Order: sequence, then C-alpha cells, then structure tokens
Amino acid sequence: MAAKILLVEDSETQLKFLKEGLLQNGFEVETATNGAEAYKKLFECIPDIVVSDIMMPIIDGYQLCRMIKNVDETKKIPVIILTVLDKKIDSFWGKKAGAQLFLSKSIDMNELVRNINATLRRYPLTEEYKAEITNFAQNDNTAQTRLNTILNDLLLKSVFANEFRNLSDFLNYERILVEKLFSLLSSFVEYSVAGIFFASPDDFAENILYIDTLGRNLCKNVLSDIQYDFFRKMEEYKSIKNTKFEVVRILLGKEIDYKFTDLNSKIIIPLIFDKKLIGGICFYTRQDMDYASFRYFDIMISELLAIFKMKYQYTEKEFMSVLDGLTGLYNRRQFEISLEQEHNRTKRHPSDFSLAILDIDFFKKVNDTYGHQYGDYVLKKVAELMKTSFRKTDLLYRYGGEELIMIMPETNIEGALIPVQRLRRMVEDYDFEYNGVKTKVTVSIGLTMNYQEFKTPADILKSADEALYRAKESGRNRVVLYEQQ
Ligand code: GH3
Ligand code: MG
Ligand code: MG
Repeated sequence: MAAKILLVEDSETQLKFLKEGLLQNGFEVETATNGAEAYKKLFECIPDIVVSDIMMPIIDGYQLCRMIKNVDETKKIPVIILTVLDKKIDSFWGKKAGAQLFLSKSIDMNELVRNINATLRRYPLTEEYKAEITNFAQNDNTAQTRLNTILNDLLLKSVFANEFRNLSDFLNYERILVEKLFSLLSSFVEYSVAGIFFASPDDFAENILYIDTLGRNLCKNVLSDIQYDFFRKMEEYKSIKNTKFEVVRILLGKEIDYKFTDLNSKIIIPLIFDKKLIGGICFYTRQDMDYASFRYFDIMISELLAIFKMKYQYTEKEFMSVLDGLTGLYNRRQFEISLEQEHNRTKRHPSDFSLAILDIDFFKKVNDTYGHQYGDYVLKKVAELMKTSFRKTDLLYRYGGEELIMIMPETNIEGALIPVQRLRRMVEDYDFEYNGVKTKVTVSIGLTMNYQEFKTPADILKSADEALYRAKESGRNRVVLYEQQ
C-alpha cells in the first residue's frame, strides 16, 4: 500500500510542484496550505508522515510540529520540515519542536523521496496506532477545539513558567517566597484557604505550613484542623514531627465563623522529587470544586515542582554547610549544635554562658521601601558590626531571616550586657548607605543566661525569645534581660 503523505505548503506553485513529484514516486498525497488546516486534515486522513514548510500563515511549521508531538495520540507521526532557512536557530527550533528531519527546500525530488522513505522505515506507524488516532479524533472535540486547547496549554505553560521563574530570586527568603507564591496562586486558583509547606532535609527542623486566607480572618480551630489534615497526608511520604502553621497574608475584617467541615472541596498535593518529599501545597474551598480536573493544574504543579526543587536544594546546601551564605556567620544548624554542647558542658562543669538574640526593627519596612537587596545589605552590615563588637571566643549565628544570635561562653548576664548594649548603640549610630541611599536602622535584643531553671537548650532559647518579645513590645531599639521566675 502506498504511504500517505500530508504535505503542508502555503505557496501554491511549490505545493503543486511537490505534490506532482511525490505522486509520481508512488505516494498518496493529501495537502494543506497552512498549519491550522493541516492539523485538521491530520485527523481526517491519518497520514504516515507529515512533510511541512515552516513559514506559513496562521500556524507555522514549528507550531504544527509541536502540536503533533505534544499529544500522545499523535506524537508518533513522523514530521519532516522543509525550509529555505539555514540559520542555527531554525534547526534548533525544528529539533525542539520534535521534527524527525530537517531538509533544505532546495533539495531535489529524488533526494526528498529517499529521505521520506528512510524516515518512513525508521518511524513506521502501526495499524493499531492509526486506529487510536481515529478513535482520539472521534472521541475528542473538533480539530479546531483541540488546536485551541493545545495552543492555550502552550501559552499557559510559557506564562506560568515565566511567572514562577521570577520567584527563584527569593529562594533564600522563605517568607517572601511564600508571599509571592500565594499572590501568584491566588491569581488563578479559587480557594478559601491555601497552604504551602517546604520540607527540609533537616529532620529536626520545624515543619511549617504557611497559610493564606486571602486576607480574611479565620478561626484558629479551622486552621489547626487544616494543619492536621495536611501533615497527615504528608506523613504518607515522610515521617513528620514538630509541625505548626503560620498565617502569612494579613488578616483583615471580621472573623469568619465557618467550620472545617464547611470546606467542601480540597486538594492536598505532596511534591516529590528523587523519591523524597520536598514539600506540599493544599487548597481548600467552600465551593464545590474538582481541583484535579483542571488542566492548568498539571502545568502549575510541574512549575511548582521546579521551584520547590530549587528551594530544597538551596536548603540542603545551607544545611550541609556551616556558614550562612549571606552574613558569613554560623548558620542555624551550627547554632543548634553549639547551644546543645554549651548546655551539656555547663551542666557537667558548672559555669555561666549568656545568649542574646537580635532582631532588626521594622525590617519589613526596609525591604518594602528600598528593596530586598538593600535589606540584604543592612543585614550583612549588622552582622559585620556584630563581629566587631564581640570577642573572638564569642559565637555568632544567623538564626534565620533577620534574627542573629550571640553565645558568650564564660560570661554572665551582667558581663554580656556590655557588648550587647555596645552593639545596639553601634547599629543605632551607623549611617547605612547602599547605592547612594541612606537610612537608619535599630535593633531589639533579648538577653538571657544559663539559669538553673532551664532544663533543655530549647528553654534557654525560649527565654531569650521572651526577652526579645518584650524589647519589641516596650518600644524597640533596646536590650531587655530575661527575668528569672
Ligand atoms: P519588628 O520590628 O517587629 O521585628 O518588625 P519587622 O518588620 O522586622 O518584622 P519581622 O521581624 O517579623 O519581619 C522580618 C522580615 O524580614 C520578613 C522578611 O520580609 C524580611 N527578611 C527575612 N530574612 C531576610 C533576608 O535574608 N533578606 C531580606 N532582605 N529580608 C529578609
Ligand atoms: Mg524577625
Ligand atoms: Mg524584625
């Protein structure tokens, strides 16, 4: 049986010439004069091969090829692209579009026939496969709808890819990344509550489910039910302890008093990479909704996966290393290790050590006013000032975000107060300037020491946190000492 060629060419003279030549060589030939028409014909005639020009109105050869290769039911149909173009970028596109062969238009008929035959031999279509195409054509909508769907998908994919790619600037600012993700997701997903969770390579890390309520207030019960529901699902993929939720986007307006059970529809999606749980997202809504049935959902997930993957790898790198990349201080993991060591040491051989935690005042505003780069600069500078105001034996850490910690061995709280106050004053007096923009910054500090009442390292940290909280509450730009019970 003669092989059937779908020949696509917008120039009538070219089309006629090629068709004649191919007919003479014993092929059956169907024709179309642009990509859109060709895509429609594809399902009507089910060819063994498509031979297409590139430059055509409406839908060009690349797009046609992409459309054929994009769908399982048609992707095995071999495509040869004919072109007068011979730039590298053309063959790049041709290959990316999935064409089997890329031939110059100036090729003579014998050569073309030889190439077509070779391609047909290499990529033969089985009768079963052809039957599937027919089936697909019958079950599905019209060719036009299908074409629109594919184009929409492609467009959506590239728009999504763009939007998500922009987020990769914020990999090291979890909180900002989360805010940006929520604002992006909420622009095209319907939800009452959404959650984002980044799994950490550190098994002891706190597992936070960031929650967005679209600015609405929601009772705590609902949120903790969601937390439970979500992490129970994540547990299927990884053992998870130490979980909590944090509401990210500001709460406004009145408390909405609906119950967890009022959230009619939900989807919880674990994100897996390399057989590891790297995070998850969830959506809950009061409307009836079948999230999984939306086509854009798959596209969104694959983009999310890419971002989560980068984020995971970033965290992994941080986790494996000792120093924090931005400030050059020891990182959080080192802090946990040192605090434990110091705690154990002073339990065995009683001696004092002090711990201070510093948080930059109104740092969010610095970021919002001058941008994150500026924020980074301020953070780096504060870390530098910190290095200059402490002894070599003191240990300095970036605990997270804009929170820095100092551990001062062999120092009681009175002794610690001196360098800590000095640091607070140094920051207050410092004229921050970056790219010609000047600003003033202050810090609040909570100070504590290893009092007898503390049983665990976590107790000590908590006491410093409490003091810090009071420093913020009582007006910021100050050092507050933890008061013993
Ligand atoms: P407060 O005085 O109560 O501390 O106000 P604040 O605005 O500093 O509030 P909070 O400490 O809760 O906010 C910290 C913000 O710091 C959140 C985030 O936008 C920003 N941030 C955290 N880590 C980084 C970082 O590494 N770089 C930059 N540029 N910003 C960060
Ligand atoms: Mg903070
Ligand atoms: Mg702060």
